[in-house]
Amino acid sequence: MSSAISTDVLIVGAGVAGLWLNARLRRLGYSTVLVENASLGGGQSLKSQAIIHGGAKYALHGALTGASEAIADMPRRWREALAGTGEVDLSGVRVLSQAHYLWSPGTIAGNLTSFFASKAVRGRVDQVKGDELPPALQDKAFKGKVYRLAELVVDTPGVIERLAQLGGDGLLAGERLQPLLDNGQLAGLRVDGRDIRAQRVVLSAGAGTADLLNSLGVDQPAMQRRPLHMILAKGASLKPLYAHCLGGGTKPRITVTTHPAADGQWVWYLGGDIAEADGVARTSAEQIATAQKELGQLLPWIDLSQVQWATLRVDRAEPAQSGLVRPDNAFLAEQGALLVGWPTKLALAPDFADRVIASLERDNIKPAKHEPLPDLPRPPMGQTPWEQLLP
Ligand SMILES: Cc1cc2nc3c(=O)[nH]c(=O)nc-3n(C[C@H](O)[C@H](O)[C@H](O)COP(=O)(O)OP(=O)(O)OC[C@H]3O[C@@H](n4cnc5c(N)ncnc54)[C@H](O)[C@@H]3O)c2cc1C
Repeated sequence: MSSAISTDVLIVGAGVAGLWLNARLRRLGYSTVLVENASLGGGQSLKSQAIIHGGAKYALHGALTGASEAIADMPRRWREALAGTGEVDLSGVRVLSQAHYLWSPGTIAGNLTSFFASKAVRGRVDQVKGDELPPALQDKAFKGKVYRLAELVVDTPGVIERLAQLGGDGLLAGERLQPLLDNGQLAGLRVDGRDIRAQRVVLSAGAGTADLLNSLGVDQPAMQRRPLHMILAKGASLKPLYAHCLGGGTKPRITVTTHPAADGQWVWYLGGDIAEADGVARTSAEQIATAQKELGQLLPWIDLSQVQWATLRVDRAEPAQSGLVRPDNAFLAEQGALLVGWPTKLALAPDFADRVIASLERDNIKPAKHEPLPDLPRPPMGQTPWEQLLP
């Protein structure tokens, strides 16, 4: 049997939430171990559209929601991290776009009036025209209106790789997790037969958290999955586009982000309303046909004849909410030595780490002395959907 380990905080799940938290805790002097049973970022994080929301999209409802308020600070925190001056050092990670855009294809939609009046976007949205337009929209046939939002889009593989580097020697590939109890209290986990004792155990295992809670005999917090059916398109005719295309409803009709493929071509990754309920009910072929029709109408000047297509079914994992509404913040529940949560968005990974750190401070959990970690088997890097589906 492998030798036992003791650490301050044992984290389960190496998506953006676990990795960001791990990097922050190490910087604060805590000793950590981060266990991953598949690949780094390979759950939701590498499948996300990687928009670092500041809440503008949620202000489309017209009302100032909690989401618009809580998330408003995230672009600043990510920009500082990316500049190397923030709470974790992400310098060197590629920013795919310094801005995300709001694109109204026809005349200005009615719901934009209240949108522009809302506090979440006031002073942070500028209309762009001509050669300031995203490259894919620079065509004389383009008629809509485009607004620049102060939200960035990051290269998720770069983020995950860098955070994993900051995780140092504490990343552990491990599959079988069992609770380790002292007098009935959680004292750590047994991972593939190795005892790991910790002052606190954090579950940030995305969609895997429900099963983990089950195996620990804990029934709260409840989790929900929100299924999505995303579309991928790759081709030499596709130029970068990072935009929510408005359709008149409260949700963007399509949200397009653009990601670099290994062969130098761009991949358009399409989400938004098209990927939600009706999109989930469609077969892959139907979903591709729907996307082709939408893009053909919205961007008729773009030649789609040589484009390769694929779709991806993926669930978002979140704390259970009535009516499947979007949670507003990162979520963390505390039960003694066990902390359980979901960031609910890639953008909110800093907020998730804040909540864990606040809990440690409240409980007076300080970095303790531990033996150096032995060499641990390291989890592999995850793949992006385009690496998997459009190689
Ligand atoms: C299609 C899509 C688009 C999105 N777009 C955006 C966006 O543009 N902006 C934004 O802010 N957010 C976006 N999100 C949300 C965002 O991706 C997630 O909120 C975020 O990535 C969740 O991070 P996480 O670390 O909690 O989970 P995950 O990335 O899912 O990581 C959880 C990890 O835990 C591991 N794990 C599971 N079970 C176990 C176990 N038993 N033992 C050990 N490890 C385990 C998994 O293998 C995985 O690596 C999007 C999500 C999806 C699905």
